[in-house]
Amino acid sequence: MGRPWTLTEIDTIRENIHLSDQAIGILINRTGTSVKWKRQRLGLFKENRKRITKYQINLNFFKEWNDPMAYALGFIYSDGTIRINKAKFHYSFKIAIKDLTLLQKINSAMASNIPIKPRIIPTGILYELSIGRKSMVYDLVSLGLIPNKSRIMKFPKIPENFLLPFIRGYFDGDGSVLFLSNRLKVKITSGSEAFIREMQVKFSELNLQTSMRIVSAKNRKNPWYEINILGNSRKEFFDLIYRDASIYLERKYQVFQSYFARPILKTDCLGCGKSIIKKNTQHVRCRPCSRAYGIIRDRKRASIRTGM
Ligand SMILES: [Zn+2]
Repeated sequence: MGRPWTLTEIDTIRENIHLSDQAIGILINRTGTSVKWKRQRLGLFKENRKRITKYQINLNFFKEWNDPMAYALGFIYSDGTIRINKAKFHYSFKIAIKDLTLLQKINSAMASNIPIKPRIIPTGILYELSIGRKSMVYDLVSLGLIPNKSRIMKFPKIPENFLLPFIRGYFDGDGSVLFLSNRLKVKITSGSEAFIREMQVKFSELNLQTSMRIVSAKNRKNPWYEINILGNSRKEFFDLIYRDASIYLERKYQVFQSYFARPILKTDCLGCGKSIIKKNTQHVRCRPCSRAYGIIRDRKRASIRTGM
């Protein structure tokens, strides 16, 4: 009988079914006879070879840590789904996003030519990449992913060097960066409390200042959790996650870029006339003056409320 067959070996047979049994044997260090026996047991015969060989993917993609792998893992933690149906022999993982370019980048990082399928949804077009490779699904499971994960998933164990690309991938899926009325808001959300709390611990280890809030909406049964990245930590976050980045969502990167590259105007304080840096549209007084102005304004409000 020899050693048991691994899922990767079985997928290797599927991927390379166009090769001879001997050639496949060389790839997985088995004899041609052994491959032939297993191939036939798997129901893989010459007539369906052509259909199977059309698509290929690097089955070992999730076995070794590197920047695109950690990124893709983070992305699947946010916007991916895993399906395992043992009874129907269905094993797949799927990524569905609106940005076709990014999905193409993820696909080619996995050395995959599996087609991306567009789907029309009320807000536009969603691009889906569904990969049915049992060994890859189980690699993802061993990296902590599970079906119906969104509320119960935990933060995975990640080698220190690959934490930042993982966070970048997660952020590109379930994070947002908004540049509105000269303010920059950076946040990351999750439906899983355990996941987001560990994420916040990682942020504090990176010396990033954050706040967390629990958000509930009437139309949603369960609350979700939101981390906001504060003050100067936004720039540090930007510098950290995009450093040596091989793959990222261009749109979000550009929002950060345009914020940090925005022109900073000088103006004269409305209170004392001192020259100040005008960072946003509301910022027209120096610090002491705006503090004093705030107190006056608050008093006015208080007096209106009390009817004085
Ligand atoms: Zn002033």
